[in-house]
Amino acid sequence: MGTALIYDEEMTKYKLLWVDPACKIEVPERLTVSHGALVRNGLTDRCICLPVREAVDAEILLVHSEEYLEAVKQTPHMTLEDLKEFTLQYGDVYFHPNIYHCAKLAVGSALQLVDSVLMGKVKNGMALVRPPGHHSMRSAANGFCVFNNVAIAAQYAKQKYGVKRILIVDWDIHHGQGVQYCFEDDPSVLYFSWHRYEHQKFWPNLKDSDYDIVGKGEGAGFNINVPWNKVGMENSDYLSVFCHLLLPIAYEFCPDLVLVCAGFDSAIGDPEGEMCATPDIFAHLTYLLMNLAEGKLCAVLEISTKRIKLSGEGNKDEAEVGEEQKSPEEKIWPEPPKRICPPVCSAVVLPDGVVCPDACERLSSSEDLGPHLLTLK
Ligand SMILES: [Zn+2]
Repeated sequence: MGTALIYDEEMTKYKLLWVDPACKIEVPERLTVSHGALVRNGLTDRCICLPVREAVDAEILLVHSEEYLEAVKQTPHMTLEDLKEFTLQYGDVYFHPNIYHCAKLAVGSALQLVDSVLMGKVKNGMALVRPPGHHSMRSAANGFCVFNNVAIAAQYAKQKYGVKRILIVDWDIHHGQGVQYCFEDDPSVLYFSWHRYEHQKFWPNLKDSDYDIVGKGEGAGFNINVPWNKVGMENSDYLSVFCHLLLPIAYEFCPDLVLVCAGFDSAIGDPEGEMCATPDIFAHLTYLLMNLAEGKLCAVLEISTKRIKLSGEGNKDEAEVGEEQKSPEEKIWPEPPKRICPPVCSAVVLPDGVVCPDACERLSSSEDLGPHLLTLK
């Protein structure tokens, strides 16, 4: 069993059609750049690529109201003026004639991933989707999110597979208030979110994002908010919260499935998050979560960040996106400290007929010596 990757270029086919400074960061390149980085690093070749599908009404209605779904269904037929007016009733989001189609694909991608993991076809996986989901609420789009991909995936896993306990870890730098509201009175879903907060000065500026909001009724104690009241958090801060706060509770909760609202605006270089955690910390966080739920883990993209621009870097990198990096006041981030560790080598004796794996160096290939000796670096 391997790791699934779900991605379809179709989800890049909508964009902002008018001028709105609050929405200009949400561009199709968020998705193409993320996928391109996986391709360049050879990671797509190591994944099992699964097809996307559109979610059906009954699946969207697991979380959203019928009135809201019917309203979004009208958007493909709206004129530009109608779309602008429709958008105005919500916060920090925009609509486009193709966004309903993409939103159905985003939900469907998350559900395909849950199906594959819970049916045992893959061990775990990631869905690269757009639009994101964790801000959208029962009857409202919000923060670039139309349908709540991860919340629907959780309800779907409970309904279709009878999953008893689900842990949702939201490491995006914004509070996924839509996920919180969906499960605040539900003890079968433990929602954890850390987010930039600054005493309610940071978007979405909600009292509900603070640390003392812990769930309601039977769900009391199953909502964990970690509001960061300053920027510049580093790897050690993220690890500390995981090890001292999230994991002890998560082990006690003992989930059957782990879902991740995988936003990467909490990494260094993101102009919204302004945090200083390096990209590799997310591998460690993922690894720590893989010890839960027998490794059944589904990560669903929320908001990705642009590539970090380091001090001393000159030319614009092809991976950078959006117009905002042309801004003269753009922040240049310090180069992360280099890892200082001795090289680690392990010697392995391979049995006959086993091919030398990539990244291994053959030390001996003498037939006379029998099995071959390799070093792993
Ligand atoms: Zn975010």
